[in-house]
Amino acid sequence: MTRILLTTDDLAPSNIEGQFEFWDKLWKKHKNFQLLAFTTANWNFRLPKKSKFRGNNSILREDFIEFCNKRKNWLLIAYHGLTHEVAESTLPLQDQQKSIKEMLSIFHKFSQKFKGEIVPAYKPPFYRFNSDALNICKDSGIRYFFMQDGILDLQTYNFFRRNDIHLIDSHTNPRAQSVKDGKTISAPDRIDFLYERLDKFLSNQNAWENFIR
Ligand SMILES: [Zn+2]
Repeated sequence: MTRILLTTDDLAPSNIEGQFEFWDKLWKKHKNFQLLAFTTANWNFRLPKKSKFRGNNSILREDFIEFCNKRKNWLLIAYHGLTHEVAESTLPLQDQQKSIKEMLSIFHKFSQKFKGEIVPAYKPPFYRFNSDALNICKDSGIRYFFMQDGILDLQTYNFFRRNDIHLIDSHTNPRAQSVKDGKTISAPDRIDFLYERLDKFLSNQNAWENFIR
């Protein structure tokens, strides 16, 4: 069976609700894909003041590890920053080194309890980064750097253009938006729209479409 690799962003303990029902539902119906989930080590971006995750949103939470282990056969974890602050991957060299080091150390601890796979791939929050980010990631053993228009292999410097490899990003964060028939749509319409497209796609793999995240 050919397995399709889909990706999503912003996996963090606080973001599961309202986002992951989507993937569970899709998995229940189609077992021919794996999900590469760009995960934030300790999400701290726009958390509501009353959120129970404030100050306690690390991927090392027991409930989060349990959540990931239950899905270990199809959920692949990749890196998506330390806190998901806007400028994280555009910081000056030393600050960025510190933040990537801290991110990797949290993921390292996570890997000792997570029974699935961690892929050495990194997507900078908001796709914003400077050249320091590329060098630090390379020096830290991260191989695949995800950019808006494709993936850079930091070992060979091959660049895989999004359209050439049919890279499907499906941003299921309920706060994200899509364009449908020229109109911007938000959740819940957007989530239904994405589900419909992925459902159709996974049912007929020849029907490549130009997916819009
Ligand atoms: Zn993100």
